[in-house]
Amino acid sequence: MTFDLDATHRAIRDTARAFSREEIAPHAKAWDEEERFPQELIPKLGELGFLGINIGADYGGSELDTLAYAIIVEEVSRADGAMGLTVASHNGLGSCHLARFGSDALKDRYLPKLATGEWLGAWALTEPGSGSDSAALRTRARRDGDRWVLDGSKNFITQGTVGGICVVLASSDLAKRHHGISAFAVERGTPGFSARKLTGKMGCRASDTAELHLENVSLEAGQLVGREGSGFTDAMSILDKGRISIAAMALGLGEAALEAALAYAKERRQFGRPLGDFQAIQWMLADSRTELDAARLLIWRAAALADADKPFGQEAAMAKLFASEAGSRACDRALQIHGGYGYINEFPVERHNRDIRVTRIGEGTSEVQRLVIARNLLRDE
Ligand SMILES: Cc1cc2nc3c(=O)[nH]c(=O)nc-3n(C[C@H](O)[C@H](O)[C@H](O)COP(=O)(O)OP(=O)(O)OC[C@H]3O[C@@H](n4cnc5c(N)ncnc54)[C@H](O)[C@@H]3O)c2cc1C
Repeated sequence: MTFDLDATHRAIRDTARAFSREEIAPHAKAWDEEERFPQELIPKLGELGFLGINIGADYGGSELDTLAYAIIVEEVSRADGAMGLTVASHNGLGSCHLARFGSDALKDRYLPKLATGEWLGAWALTEPGSGSDSAALRTRARRDGDRWVLDGSKNFITQGTVGGICVVLASSDLAKRHHGISAFAVERGTPGFSARKLTGKMGCRASDTAELHLENVSLEAGQLVGREGSGFTDAMSILDKGRISIAAMALGLGEAALEAALAYAKERRQFGRPLGDFQAIQWMLADSRTELDAARLLIWRAAALADADKPFGQEAAMAKLFASEAGSRACDRALQIHGGYGYINEFPVERHNRDIRVTRIGEGTSEVQRLVIARNLLRDE
């Protein structure tokens, strides 16, 4: 067993870190304040292969492993949580669902565009009336000759207005609950399909979040992704891997906050001494370092299992639960160390505290992770 990254993963980390420091970090504050999705960044992320992580080389993807995916999301999030969320969701949700379960025709049509960032991918499971209980979704899919017609609405969809393609989960038989759910590839611009950007988010304000409406959206039969009725099971396995990336996002934000706290503790003086001389401050720094290292080990373990084709759902849930909560504590401590200056947006820890909050909600809340973990424990016994 080794805890060191190999040369390939170190190179990926160094590239992601340098790019994020130069091209993302200097703009994060402005993008957040303007609540603006930085479309101009997307081709650059595409060139680096950061948008085709889960896409095979045959389709122009970078075909990286889960560990590389976690490292890239951590480094991007360290510079900006909103862009971390964009990279995590584009790769892990919409693109991954099409790459893993799409027909050859769907893959030929969409994956090359998704791999370069020409199109971004969205993924729509959550609805106004169903979040944690996602099998209770109400969006309907009915057959109309050899076509499918979708009706319903979705909420909180990342890349909802900027995505070129959205994988939409819908039910053809509500009575069958999750067995009635299938996935469909819906292109932006399809008649009856509309998106409204959600503004006023607490954090990750530069990421695109939207409400989607589907009214008589008529699709060719071939837009079905995976088998009819397998959509829910497929979506749950997509979320298993997605959770590793949300854990990595939380880790990146926690690292950014700790870095800022360390610098501030060395520079700020009170009672004639740097803050870092006070034991109360030292303990906060020590706790954050320890918890973030523990989070990284959980994330890397889940990623290593996924890359070895072993079951990893339980480990991914634990990594997300712990990393999102440890990262939140690190952000909160960093704010405390900054005192009043942590409470204003002149210092980035204010934004880190807002951005990290979603990691305890998206892709399954902390409560849902605990449910998943406990269910697996009880099943095993
Ligand atoms: C910025 C952002 C981006 C998102 N992006 C996407 C996306 O791209 N695609 C997508 O499909 N969704 C997306 N989501 C939706 C997200 O996955 C849901 O918000 C999340 O799953 C929780 O659902 P909910 O908001 O309806 O809360 P609810 O399910 O209503 O939960 C409310 C509270 O009750 C708790 N709760 C619910 N059930 C239980 C239970 N059985 N036991 C204990 N506690 C429980 C929850 O943990 C939570 O604290 C996004 C959300 C946000 C905020």
